[in-house]
Amino acid sequence: MKKNIYFFSDSEYTSKEEVHEKIGIRGRRAMELASLNLPILPGFIIDAEIAQRLDKINLKPHLTNFFKKLESGTGKRFGDPENPMLVKIVISPNMVITTYPTLHNFGLTESTLPGFISFVGENFARHEVQFLIRGNLEIEARIAELENRDDDVRTLKTAMGELDKELNAEMTAKQREKSVRKHLASLPEGFFSSKKQDAYNQLEITLKRISLMLKLDDLEKNDTALIIQPMVYGNYGKDSASGMFFTRNIVTGERKIQGDFFQSAFNSIGAQGKDINKITKTYLVQLDKIAQTVEDYFKEIRSIRFTIEKKKLWLIDQRAVMKKSTQAEIKTLLDLHSRKVVDDKFVVRSVKPNRLNEILHPIINSESVSKLKSIEGGIAGAPGAAIGRVFFSTEGLIDAYKVFQKKGEDTSLILCMPATFAEDVKAIEVATGVLSNEGGYAAHASVVARQYGKVSLVKPELRIRGKSATMGEVAINEGDYITLNVPHYGDPSIYLGTAELIEPNPEDSGMLQFNKLVRKYIKDFHVRVNADTPRDVSLAKSFGAAGVGLCRTEHMFFDEKRINIFREMILSDTLEERQTALDKLLPIQKTDFYKIFKIMSGHEVTIRLLDAPLHEFLPHNEEEMKKFITYMKSRKTKKTISDNEIRARCEALNEFNPMLGHRGVRIAVSYPEIYAMQIRAIFEAVYTLQKEGVPVKPEIMIPLIMNENELKLIIFGKKIEGNSIRGLTDVEQEVREAVKAKPVEYRFGTMIELPVAALGAGEIARYAEFFSFGTNDLTQTTTGLSRDDCNSFMPDYTLFDILDGNPFQILNHYVKELIDLAVKRGRMTRPDLVTGLCGEHGAIPDNIRFCMDAGLNYVSCSSYSVPIAALTIAQLNIERNLV
Ligand code: PEP
Ligand code: MG
Repeated sequence: MKKNIYFFSDSEYTSKEEVHEKIGIRGRRAMELASLNLPILPGFIIDAEIAQRLDKINLKPHLTNFFKKLESGTGKRFGDPENPMLVKIVISPNMVITTYPTLHNFGLTESTLPGFISFVGENFARHEVQFLIRGNLEIEARIAELENRDDDVRTLKTAMGELDKELNAEMTAKQREKSVRKHLASLPEGFFSSKKQDAYNQLEITLKRISLMLKLDDLEKNDTALIIQPMVYGNYGKDSASGMFFTRNIVTGERKIQGDFFQSAFNSIGAQGKDINKITKTYLVQLDKIAQTVEDYFKEIRSIRFTIEKKKLWLIDQRAVMKKSTQAEIKTLLDLHSRKVVDDKFVVRSVKPNRLNEILHPIINSESVSKLKSIEGGIAGAPGAAIGRVFFSTEGLIDAYKVFQKKGEDTSLILCMPATFAEDVKAIEVATGVLSNEGGYAAHASVVARQYGKVSLVKPELRIRGKSATMGEVAINEGDYITLNVPHYGDPSIYLGTAELIEPNPEDSGMLQFNKLVRKYIKDFHVRVNADTPRDVSLAKSFGAAGVGLCRTEHMFFDEKRINIFREMILSDTLEERQTALDKLLPIQKTDFYKIFKIMSGHEVTIRLLDAPLHEFLPHNEEEMKKFITYMKSRKTKKTISDNEIRARCEALNEFNPMLGHRGVRIAVSYPEIYAMQIRAIFEAVYTLQKEGVPVKPEIMIPLIMNENELKLIIFGKKIEGNSIRGLTDVEQEVREAVKAKPVEYRFGTMIELPVAALGAGEIARYAEFFSFGTNDLTQTTTGLSRDDCNSFMPDYTLFDILDGNPFQILNHYVKELIDLAVKRGRMTRPDLVTGLCGEHGAIPDNIRFCMDAGLNYVSCSSYSVPIAALTIAQLNIERNLV
């Protein structure tokens, strides 16, 4: 048996792998501290090989030598009536998820109690006997459970409940003594006796019971070890203390230990600790040094428990910290990096990409919501946390915003609507978050919210009626404060009331410095941004985006001042009317393109020509319609237009299935002047910048292509039976000649968002120099699931495991197959075909792995997701030894 027991102390340990496999997780943690020569509380480990067979062994002869070592370290003796050493049994399973109690105070018997009382006083001593019994009752209860002795389980659990209360209650020593007598009846005989050798006997009784429990619990696993360590007490007067600290601040990452210590306290439950940094200087210096050694060894923040007994500091345990913030994690890594403890690759590999969400968006201070009512669940549209007063319409929210602004009141508002459309973007822009009930991750509200860095939560059970809404039993009214909490990890929730938020700050959080290291590991496969405002493009550039992968030009008309001109244009009856509206839009587009190209100078900027499912842009309520009518009537035109005609034209644009209707390239086939205006705006901006010496790399993308004929027609134009369409190349040439500029290099390409386009990729590549997979539409058209409407039945699909995850987040297997095939067919025609993915799937690590495998050149995602995608790419490059 000797070879199955291992001793550890600040000067003794074993690092043999085969031993570490048998001593469980807590055994390994103790050995690790011992290997660092830190003042670990010494102990010995009975390994998993024999922990389940202790019933057959007479333990005492095997343990005496180990006890001698413990006794010489502590200056006390096990079973000594004067100065008794007490021990605890720590159950050490191999996995963190298995939990067993730690059992304290063995060696406390009728004969040693008086000696113990002389050190700690009678009340505390008797309290510790109760504690000893409490632990053993738990083992007995588990055994009873495993042996299906239901009545015993009930009795033991009642006793445990009583003891729990008593342990935390104010009681006299006499009362404690009475309680001990009562509860001893549930334990084996002789457990708390006054005979000679009773300390060993007591320990052996429990070890054998634990051994039985482990055997009953899992016969096959057999991987749990037992640790025996002396008890040390932090309440032996003013020279003693106990506490727990983190090796640094787990929220800010500041290199200063954080935690509490206790002095003269029974235990930490309910007791008020003091800031660890206020502990006596000599200990603080010691703890600080330990923190640094432990962090340098584990290369992460750890929590450490310690006890100081009569001026002697003992480390009890150390463990990883689950609840550290991303900022603290990154700051620790950067600190270790600056001190050359870890290299670049280690830093980049250590952070899970999705953790960055937390550092890019506000998060909730969990302490601030403990008293708030919450509604759990929902679909995460855009992550983060937002507080605001609820408004149920865009107009209502904007009006309130203006009033609050004027009055100097809080302008944090949350838009709550069934779904959002183009006209609601202005409200999303000023709101802090959006709460909706239709669609999901790829729905309008979610996409726009992500783009503007706002929070979005979709709650299918949300029912809005006028100026109030219900979610199950809970009602919210206009003006009520709510907090949306959409964490990347865990389920979203809504709190009724205001929580405290912790705002992101990329500079202070270490995010920018971390991102710089990440970018060193990006080589051939890149991340671009989906952005259509200069603000977003520049944010993404600061995060290292290698270009714009998707500039949705229809989004550039969301602005309140632009949307009516845009509506005027799509509702025009004649070419002349349309051209008038287009002439108004041209300078607006040109200015935006100019700014975007300039910010991204030297990098590709993919501009997608108009792809507006028209219903998204029409007025959706009477108020908006009235504003539009006023606008239409205020125009200086020869022909007046009546209210009814305006309404009728809007009506006429309604489609039964707008997502498959008159959108994308189809609009340009009917109204080529729209794309002509956009090309004019793009190249007027390009040639202005050329004159300024700014390098520009424009890529023109045609959306919703079905076959090569559409592309050929749009790019090169066509004349047929007296009708003609001017090619976009002609428009570019016209602009260039007008400003007498030299040609810039630019590319024409297409979105692949229909299965027919993926299958016909070989032909389409004859005219497309790049493909960008629009996986939102490609998923919609491949699976036949509406990106905006599938919420109503998706939960049932999830319930019955019909799909592997949400296909609008995790690329569906057959969508991947189509992408794979399209890349292969496209490159057969055009070997240097550039390919990317720009759907909402672009920032999800598993999808990025696929894109790299499929031979794509980049993914493109919203600006706040750029650092996440970049980190994923860097990690994959490191994993594959590509950098
Ligand atoms: C897509 O369909 O994946 C895409 C990027 O385009 P949109 O979301 O604008 O339809
Ligand atoms: Mg699309």
